[in-house]
Amino acid sequence: MAKGLTWNENELVVAFYLYCVTPFGKIHHNNPRIMEVAKMLGRSPAALSMKMCNFASFDPVHKSRNVGGLKHAGRGDRETWDKYNDHWGQLIDEYQKQMAALHAPAEPADEEVEIVWNGKRTEALRTTKARLGQRFFRGTVLATYDYVCAMCGIGMPQLLNASHIIPWSVNEEKRVDPRNGLSLCGLHDRAFDKGLVTVDEGHRLVLSQEVKKRKKPEMHKAAFTDLEGTKLILPKRFAPDADALAYHRDKVFIR
Ligand SMILES: [Zn+2]
Repeated sequence: MAKGLTWNENELVVAFYLYCVTPFGKIHHNNPRIMEVAKMLGRSPAALSMKMCNFASFDPVHKSRNVGGLKHAGRGDRETWDKYNDHWGQLIDEYQKQMAALHAPAEPADEEVEIVWNGKRTEALRTTKARLGQRFFRGTVLATYDYVCAMCGIGMPQLLNASHIIPWSVNEEKRVDPRNGLSLCGLHDRAFDKGLVTVDEGHRLVLSQEVKKRKKPEMHKAAFTDLEGTKLILPKRFAPDADALAYHRDKVFIR
C-alpha cells in the first residue's frame, strides 16, 4: 500500500468508472467491489472511495446542493472528469484496458443486460463493445437514481430499466451517456418509449391524450392519472439532459 499520494491517469480512469456505477450510499471502504478494485490498484479501500467521492464535487447537481467535504479533489481528478464527461464510450474503453492490464477477472455477467436492451433484442448484443456499453449505461443510470423508478418510485431493481431519453437507435453518441438516461420501471419505461408520457421543462410528468382518454381502472389511475404533474425523482448526479428531454417532448411524445 506504499503508493504515493498522486494518482496516475490510469488509476483515475478506474476510480471514475467505479464512481459512475456505484450509488452514493455504497461508496465506502467496506463495499466488496471497492475493496477488490483497491487491492488490484495497490491502494487502500478508503483511499479509493475518497477518490471516487472527489468526482462528485464536479457534478453541477452536487454543486448546487452545496455538499461539502470534497475539498481534496485535485487537478488530475478534474482532468479525468473533463476528459470523459462527453466521451463515455472512451471511458468504457479505457476502463476495460486498465482492468485487463491489472489482470482483473471478468466481471460477473449481468443477466438482464445480456438479454434486454430497452426491452428489445438487438443485433448489437453480438458485439462485446455494445455489451460493455450497455452494462455501463444500465449500471450508471440505475446507481444514479438509487435504484428507483424516477416516475413512480418503485424500488425493485428487477423491475427497472435504464431508459434512453433520446432513443438509442437515433443517436449513437448518446447511447451510453448517463445524462441521456432515466431509471424507469417496466411500465413507465414502455410508456416513455412509446411516447405516452413525457416531462415538461420543470420535470413534471405529462400524459398523452392516448393515456387520458382511456377508461381508468385503479391501476391506470395509480400509474398514470395520479402522477400527472408530479415531478420526476431527480438524481444526485448526472441530471437528465435538458436538450434530450426537449427532443423527447418534440419527437417521441404523442400529444
Ligand atoms: Zn414506474
